[in-house]
Amino acid sequence: MIDLHLHLDGSLSIDDFKFLAERNGVDLGEDFPNNVRVPEGCKSLEEYLERFDLPLSVMQDEISIAYVTKSLVNRLYDMGYIYAEIRFAPQLHTRKGLTQEDAVLAAISGLNNALRDKQNFDANLILCCMRQADYKTNRQTALLAKKYQDRKVVCLDLAGPEAFHTGDFYQSIFDEAKDNGVNIIIHAGEACGSDEVIRAIDLLHAKRIGHGVHLDLSRENVRKVVENRIAFEFCPTSNLQTTSLPDYEHVPLKDFDKYGILVTINSDNMTVSNTDVLKEYRHLYKTFKFTKYEVRHFIANSIEAAFISQEDKIRLLKELDKRIDSYYQKIIEE
Ligand SMILES: [Zn+2]
Repeated sequence: MIDLHLHLDGSLSIDDFKFLAERNGVDLGEDFPNNVRVPEGCKSLEEYLERFDLPLSVMQDEISIAYVTKSLVNRLYDMGYIYAEIRFAPQLHTRKGLTQEDAVLAAISGLNNALRDKQNFDANLILCCMRQADYKTNRQTALLAKKYQDRKVVCLDLAGPEAFHTGDFYQSIFDEAKDNGVNIIIHAGEACGSDEVIRAIDLLHAKRIGHGVHLDLSRENVRKVVENRIAFEFCPTSNLQTTSLPDYEHVPLKDFDKYGILVTINSDNMTVSNTDVLKEYRHLYKTFKFTKYEVRHFIANSIEAAFISQEDKIRLLKELDKRIDSYYQKIIEE
């Protein structure tokens, strides 16, 4: 499996929480672990985002950030993944005196530490700017994406409550990032509509869109995303939880795919959303009854959309072909 849209702070294991709460003197509360998963009847993206308060409270020093990064990579590897891009917002880890750069270096060290003994698996990092943050803070994040470009940071993202500001508010930061040769992803078309997706592509230079399920598939929009090979990172369960979509039947997977749009399937947050990529395929299988070739097609889309070299893409495709039978068996066996 491959996950291109995976938030570090939304994917701490229950054991990570217990270990770090003890180490850092944080009270997990009587409701734990229910308070780190999205509640039944969650009504909005804003309510969903409240679930990140507790994980962030245990990730405010270098050792803890490195620890959770390493732990996540180890779990993905044990689950049979072949590649992942893990994202986090360094600016959310500065409450106890770390700089954003300290946080980035800690995540890189945790990642490299975990990758050291692994074959046929790789992972990279994506740095997130936040919609509610000020210009200076977000620009710092963007400059770090440039600085650590050759050290496992492959992209800059914009995350957070989508209704907060429209795309043009951030334009100069993303203009500069693009000029610096930084890859860009924008969370758009999740809580808001099609216009935000188009702004993300036109104004903010997005090569990939986080979610984007509300893109209006007009002839003009389809032409734009197909010609520019814009990839869409669908995270179905998360979209249901934030009420962005009503149910799995409404995930516009086949609609996007039939136009040749590069659509990928991801988890968003393994703990907050209580999911992983295999579970996402299982949920979708109930509706779409994928064949093995369709599953291979969507995972191959993830390989094409990954921010890795052409050589690495060929290597991953070979690895996918070795594993597709077992992936498919796991998807249909439930
Ligand atoms: Zn996300």
